[in-house]
Amino acid sequence: MPELPEVEVTRRGIAPHVESRQVSGVVMRRSGLRWPFPPDLPNLLVGHVIRSTARRGKYLLLNFDHGTLIVHLGMSGHLRVLPAGHPPEKHDHFDLEFGAQLMRFTDPRRFGAVLWHAQADGDIEGHLLLRGLGVEPLACDDLAQRLHRATRNRSAAIKQVLLAGDIVVGVGNIYACESLFESGIHPNTAAKRISLPRYERLAAAIRRVLAAAIEQGGSTLRDFIGADGASGYFQQNYFVYDREGQPCRNCAAPVRRIVQGQRSTFYCPRCQR
Ligand SMILES: [Zn+2]
Repeated sequence: MPELPEVEVTRRGIAPHVESRQVSGVVMRRSGLRWPFPPDLPNLLVGHVIRSTARRGKYLLLNFDHGTLIVHLGMSGHLRVLPAGHPPEKHDHFDLEFGAQLMRFTDPRRFGAVLWHAQADGDIEGHLLLRGLGVEPLACDDLAQRLHRATRNRSAAIKQVLLAGDIVVGVGNIYACESLFESGIHPNTAAKRISLPRYERLAAAIRRVLAAAIEQGGSTLRDFIGADGASGYFQQNYFVYDREGQPCRNCAAPVRRIVQGQRSTFYCPRCQR
């Protein structure tokens, strides 16, 4: 499933191909994915120029003067830039055309989304899907203070609080496990019992882990925008994630797996307290 780093790498991959480009066509090969496509999208977009791209959590934002096209990759979606006329395959549901090139949305499981938010409806941050989101971990300069302040009454486990996404976005299962390991915090610790200095270590670890994933993804960028159909999601060398029973890379104790909220959590019982 695409997480924040994959979405950010996707944004960086498509940006040079779509920014400042005028939309020449919109192709919708079905009526929608997770939600219906806006049926008037061709009327709304053809002839208009994408001014910039942005990302909020896992939502890709293509900004026009008169609104924003919101794209979510869902469970299995990916975007590629292809030459105009490239024959579509079974799971290619949506194209934005820009003259000689097109941006194609492929989504086998169809949990993705393409939505339109008109400028006249107000700031994009107020959109139903975006307004409950926590801060961007890589753009927020007081993440530790925010985490500390927002958890003084939360007895839920810190891992669950990170996954909830209402304080900080983008810390999915893998990145929660890895950043809790890096900061030496046991995933079951009640969020309200974690001190500010420990949140400072956690915030730094979250940024480091996400930045490293984005950097690594950048080196596989070609897969995202090439014509070879590779999904482009990248595997990394994890410290604890998916390493149950294997030796901790720091202390050699066997990595443990527990289940929290129906998701697997991996941690080192010696390094994380
Ligand atoms: Zn260890």
